[in-house]
Amino acid sequence: MTELNLISAVDAAIPAEPFICRHLIAGEWRDSASGETYDRMSPAHGCLVSRAALGAEADAEAAIVAAREAFDSGVWSRVSGKERATILLRVADLIEGNVERMALLETLESGKPISQSRAEVSGAADLWRYAASLARTMHGDSHNTLGPDMLGVVVKDPIGVVSMITPWNFPFWILSQKLPFALAAGCTTVIKPSELTPSTTVMLGELLFEAGMPAGVVNIVLGYGPAVGGLMSTHEAVDMVTFTGSTVVGKAISAAASSTLKKVALELGGKNPQVVFPDADIESAADAITFGVYFNTGQCCNSSSRIIVHEDIVDEVVERVVELSKRVAFGDPLDPRTQVGAIISVQHQGKIDDYVRAAVTEGAEIALGGGPMTVPGLEGQFYQPTVVRGVSPEMAIAREEVFGPVLSVLTFRTMDEAVALTNDASYGLSAGVWSENVHTCLEFSTRAQAGTVWTNTWMDGFPELSFGGVKQSGQGREIGRYGLEEFFEIKTLVMRIGRTREPWVRPE
Ligand code: NAD
Repeated sequence: MTELNLISAVDAAIPAEPFICRHLIAGEWRDSASGETYDRMSPAHGCLVSRAALGAEADAEAAIVAAREAFDSGVWSRVSGKERATILLRVADLIEGNVERMALLETLESGKPISQSRAEVSGAADLWRYAASLARTMHGDSHNTLGPDMLGVVVKDPIGVVSMITPWNFPFWILSQKLPFALAAGCTTVIKPSELTPSTTVMLGELLFEAGMPAGVVNIVLGYGPAVGGLMSTHEAVDMVTFTGSTVVGKAISAAASSTLKKVALELGGKNPQVVFPDADIESAADAITFGVYFNTGQCCNSSSRIIVHEDIVDEVVERVVELSKRVAFGDPLDPRTQVGAIISVQHQGKIDDYVRAAVTEGAEIALGGGPMTVPGLEGQFYQPTVVRGVSPEMAIAREEVFGPVLSVLTFRTMDEAVALTNDASYGLSAGVWSENVHTCLEFSTRAQAGTVWTNTWMDGFPELSFGGVKQSGQGREIGRYGLEEFFEIKTLVMRIGRTREPWVRPE
């Protein structure tokens, strides 16, 4: 452990008072109907970060009613794209003006490095700008080829009231993958952030006010999953639920939403491989593998938590990844040099360790790390950068989301084997291929079952490019043009030009 690059606690300013989070309902900040609150402690620093209203069904009900009334009033759903875009652009500017404040709270609640929080918050502003551009340019279709006396027009209407349920790993980024797109389409919303990370969602609520968003268009309810998210998934006044989180909760939400047949969009987990062919640029691949497994402490749906390496180069790749892993800066999230921070909770740290212990019992070998670690001066929970080799495809560590800084190494000999191992998963979020041969890359990309395939890179993303999974990684797409489409209902208008309609009832 001494050979790792550990950043000890720094003397950074942590706010003396917790950030107070209230529900935002019908344009008012409200305490819970029950008057109860709950506290969030920092997973890295052990200090109190925020105190939030503890929501229950009564609060969710009030928020849903407010969103329904706002939608039906037309105050947002029927204004021009130009008016919507103007407000979305103002929000983007306000986010940029509040990066420091928001990034500090994001880091304290989630344990992620401050440099990453700053990049996520400022990057999210770009999602709002891109969505604003769509608000003005989206359109339906017209058909004037149906005959001389017919005109068909297909219009896109906002789907209505959208429930948004978000996770703790990228609280503000994931909200920004959904909210500006739903707003660009003209929807109204009820948002429930993770109980572990409510603050930046509440801060965004403040910025929406400042930007001039009409009351009731965006409502926020805080609290635990079943108590608040349950009603948000079943209520008759809700038209769609968009959820990002675990596959198990995604399935529960999908089942709950089926009682009213509302639309459900799901962004769920992943077990994403990077596949390295023998002719790959190994330096570059090893760096991307190191990034892919440790980014956000591996608590990332897109984590490349397994690599599938040609057996002729596996020793070289593992050796290089181990060397690079020792140079990655793990430690105090408030130090700007830190690249990897804390694990979200004590329970989650235990779950990560259980996967590693089980793999060792089943015959895998630890090439690096393999257990929790202490960061000098900090009380929170941290896990060592961990590389596990000799993993076989049936082990849980090769199939399930570990959601920690733990890499599993598998090997292949032929393209068919590499594709079979890639697709031998219930998930299908993303995959990567490393080769200098364009045919190898194209063949792998077309055969991999994944929503995104990266070639000679990992996790590059843009607001223009849609994101989502196949199989049990989810349904629907976020961001990009297709991300906007999710929030539309299609309406077809069929029009006759002139009195040319033949009567159906035969003349007497
Ligand atoms: P989670 O599923 O435990 O919780 C997500 C949200 O759902 C939280 O707000 C939670 O309060 C709420 N929730 C819990 N039970 C609920 C219920 N019965 N009804 C309604 N809402 C409920 O997930 P998490 O632990 O916060 O996040 C980690 C998971 O998210 C991982 O599996 C990860 O892969 C996934 N994730 C996916 C993506 C993606 O885009 N595909 C992105 C980030 C995270």
